[in-house]
Amino acid sequence: MVANSALVRAREDGGSKGRSYKWKELLRFPHISQCVALAMNTERDYYSLCVKQPIGKSLFQLFCRSRPDLQNYMSLLDALTVNSVTLTLHSFHTLFGISCLCLQSNQYVSLVQRHEQSCIQSLEHDPCGDVFKACREDLHQYLSGKPFIQYQDSMFFDRFIQWKMVERQPITKQAFRQYRLLGKGGFGEVWACQVRASGMMYACKKLEKTHVKKRKGEGLALNEKQILETLDSRFVVNLAYAYETKSALCMVLTMMSGGDLKFHIYNIGQPGLEKDRVQFYSAEVCCGLSHLHQKSIVYRDLKPENILLDDNGHIRISDLGLAVRLSEGQPVRGRVGTVGYMAPEVIGHEYYDMSADWWGLGCLIYEMTAGRPPFHEYRECPKASEMERRIRNEKEEYGGRFSKHVKDLCSLLLRKDPKQRLGCQGPGAWEVKAHPFFRSINFRMMEAGLVEPPFKPDPRLVYCNDVQDIEEFTAVRGVTLDRTDSDFYAMFNTGSVPITWQNEMIETGCFRELNIFGPAGSRSPDLDW
Ligand code: ADP
Ligand code: MG
Ligand code: MG
Repeated sequence: MVANSALVRAREDGGSKGRSYKWKELLRFPHISQCVALAMNTERDYYSLCVKQPIGKSLFQLFCRSRPDLQNYMSLLDALTVNSVTLTLHSFHTLFGISCLCLQSNQYVSLVQRHEQSCIQSLEHDPCGDVFKACREDLHQYLSGKPFIQYQDSMFFDRFIQWKMVERQPITKQAFRQYRLLGKGGFGEVWACQVRASGMMYACKKLEKTHVKKRKGEGLALNEKQILETLDSRFVVNLAYAYETKSALCMVLTMMSGGDLKFHIYNIGQPGLEKDRVQFYSAEVCCGLSHLHQKSIVYRDLKPENILLDDNGHIRISDLGLAVRLSEGQPVRGRVGTVGYMAPEVIGHEYYDMSADWWGLGCLIYEMTAGRPPFHEYRECPKASEMERRIRNEKEEYGGRFSKHVKDLCSLLLRKDPKQRLGCQGPGAWEVKAHPFFRSINFRMMEAGLVEPPFKPDPRLVYCNDVQDIEEFTAVRGVTLDRTDSDFYAMFNTGSVPITWQNEMIETGCFRELNIFGPAGSRSPDLDW
């Protein structure tokens, strides 16, 4: 209980109050003369530097706003990005109207005129589509030319390189404060932690080196870390840092304080969830799967305990240890996953691809609705062979809790033959999203994080088992670590993950408070330039 209240307090204080009193020192910019090598080695890719990386994007925006001839471009780009999901025809006219009133360059006039008609047409035709895509691309096309070259000569780009230097500082366990134990995994424990420099809360998944070695888990650990660092989705946990201590490899992940779906299905009231929650969670899982599948990743471990809730009630897919990237889209083989949730083709040693995940989604929707998994009772533990027999041969049963649509969706996703299964006919996730069960979900709003969750976890509760009930993890004896292990640790120990780290700096206000420029472009004295 003491551990819980410390965690609840840290979560409430979150952000700036949780920072160390030395936070400015921890994030001190190196002098610009120390940044030359990094500046030289930075690939000058407009998309990465000015669109994808959050701090890079902010600094490029500041640069454009400092230039009268570029201000309009930025305002329009902002408006088209922020509003592209919610814009109505009326506000669209106003937007273009305003843009045209403050025209400053001929280039801009022609750009706006070129797109106005076609945007209005597509807005009338398909208001849920990405109406402004072409217009945004055109704006980027222009900005990536001369403006981008001039940006690289400005103090804003110097500042970007300074932030990159801070981002690349080596990470050790001293960077974090540790709170209570949240859960236990196969190779170690997961703890709540807080970054001293920014106050950001995360979950730290520790993999004990001796356990990893004894069970030959190196490949698994590295696989999980390398897949996570290539992802950037609001429906999959983000990796913020990867570092090592003397005894463990650590992955610092998005903090999910709302507990997992298994806890919500079974530990609060009657087993099962209400229809609007089933619909919302499965739609968000669908968005997460869609993101993974676009990157040719099969997740392979869909089950309620791997779907975690954040404090607002949105979900993220977690635990990507079993995920696999298909090389050149080629199917894989391998009996991987959790007994009871594996698809028939996985059990049957056949080659498979994304079909395994659509089966998993079927099991998940079934379990959320029925309050039990499709092929066994909740606490029943049949032998693996019996489990396999049922999955391959038995038809699941639908009780009175299943509405017509949810039953139809589950039975399409739980088709034994992957060729017949929903999601496997071509357009992938879109096929599933188009099912009548999801009719009331606006997926573009959902992808933008604009759909309100039907249930918000209580911020004063800790949605996981008591610390005492989580078994302790002890080091294994008789395993010695040597040189070859160090090579593997070095591959793992890469420190901050750029996009997540930069978002952390922005969300916690550190970026705003530190990114001060002195008068007339001089370097700000109080930050020791
Ligand atoms: P393993 O791969 O060893 O199964 P998991 O990634 O599933 O490890 O983590 C083990 C447990 O730790 C989870 O069941 C959950 O209770 C907790 N946990 C994992 N990741 C997070 C997170 N990002 N936020 C909160 N708790 C988490
Ligand atoms: Mg797990
Ligand atoms: Mg795992």
